[in-house]
Amino acid sequence: MCGIFGIFDHDEAANLTYLGLSSLQHRGQEATGIACINNDGTKMEVVKRGGLVAEGFGKEEIRRLKGKKAVGHVRYSTTGASIVRNAQPLYVNYRHGDLALVHNGNLLQSAKWRTTLEDKGAIFQSVSDTEILIHLMSRSDAKTLKDRVVDALSRVRGAYSLLFLGETGMVAARDPWGYRPLVIGKIDNSWVFSSETCAFSLINAQFVRSVEPGEVVLVNENGLQSFFPFKEHKNKAKCIFEHVYFARPDTNMFGHSVYKTRVRSGRILAREHSCEADLVIPVPDSGIAAAIGYAEKSKIPFAMGLIRSHYVGRTFIEPSQSIRSFGVKLKLSPVKDLLEGKRVVVVDDSLVRGTTSRKIMDMIREAGAKEIHLRIACPPVTHSCFYGIDTPTREELLASSKNNREIANFVHADTLGYLSKAGLLDSMGDKNPESIYCTACFDGNYPQSPSADLATNMPPSV
Ligand code: 5GP
Ligand code: MG
Repeated sequence: MCGIFGIFDHDEAANLTYLGLSSLQHRGQEATGIACINNDGTKMEVVKRGGLVAEGFGKEEIRRLKGKKAVGHVRYSTTGASIVRNAQPLYVNYRHGDLALVHNGNLLQSAKWRTTLEDKGAIFQSVSDTEILIHLMSRSDAKTLKDRVVDALSRVRGAYSLLFLGETGMVAARDPWGYRPLVIGKIDNSWVFSSETCAFSLINAQFVRSVEPGEVVLVNENGLQSFFPFKEHKNKAKCIFEHVYFARPDTNMFGHSVYKTRVRSGRILAREHSCEADLVIPVPDSGIAAAIGYAEKSKIPFAMGLIRSHYVGRTFIEPSQSIRSFGVKLKLSPVKDLLEGKRVVVVDDSLVRGTTSRKIMDMIREAGAKEIHLRIACPPVTHSCFYGIDTPTREELLASSKNNREIANFVHADTLGYLSKAGLLDSMGDKNPESIYCTACFDGNYPQSPSADLATNMPPSV
């Protein structure tokens, strides 16, 4: 998962991009970057750094990024790869001048595309799937930036919300299924784009609308123009896990308040898996809104039985002798005086590998809780995501091989209840949610088959 932000024609382009990215920080903490093009379009400056936005960018970096047009990115951890090399924006100077690109999502069959292009002489600078688009654009015979984007995108499959910054304008694009979010806003007289609306709130930009699934938006000195160049799908596949976990609760995504859908999911969870208990405890921060809904519906008092520290970085030095669950203790701490002797409902947004949850259950029990009833505000995660969430392989997904009882034993909970898929879809509050949301991680119904033959549709100039 990643976050993207772009701004067209604003005196403080780099600074506002920096602020926008810091609001999107929850979408990725591994690396960050901003590309800014100077006002006559002759020079693009790119700064990329490992780590958090506030760590990577100081006054000096912002000063270097001169110009009124910028795009930026926060990148989510993926394993193995060199951090800054794969950071975005990807930047090239190709035969049409400077080009920078930021991507949230995942292209399907990127390994095959890469080999195909490499066989034709392409030299890749990163291991990122996104770079395929740059090679396709550089081989395109289309005459304009927007048409080169359309040409490249019409050849690939998968999930993308994208921003391209070139000499002649900015292009935003969202794949026809609409897996990943992308919204348009306005600040002063400038257009802004963001993965989430929470970035607009920080910089006082007005939310205008979403980039629609399958839409390509061009912004240049003539204003904003919209195109729908791809074959339309009747069904959409917006990622429901964005609402479960990824998005910030103060964001409005896919037309719904994330906070409200999470509270609703908690209410439905309480209806589906009620229990006798003294307290409802969220796992902060991701479980808070659902726990509020659970407490409301069950009439069991809500309490912050776990306190989260917001100050621990990833570079924290752990003690050399092993203290049980040390990593989790740094982040979460139980309120003993509250938990002692109590029967607690613990509400979390999701169970993935179950390793963190087990440590949390142990911590709550050590703090004196008498019974722990774990309630999860989404269905069992049984399938890997190929559309931009870095879920583990199926083998590592706890629910892909274990039943409810086995999972409860594994995480050391007395009872366990998952929100049903119908309940989760219901919490979105749409008519026919099955035709709007991707639920592949819960049911294996992949909107686009991850392994289908590559629609190899090479550009004529290759
Ligand atoms: P686990 O079951 O893997 O021990 O941890 C579950 C917790 O991880 C949940 O509280 C949930 O908020 C969080 N979570 C869910 N999906 C992701 C993800 O893609 N990345 C990270 N870092 N955490 C996640
Ligand atoms: Mg969590």
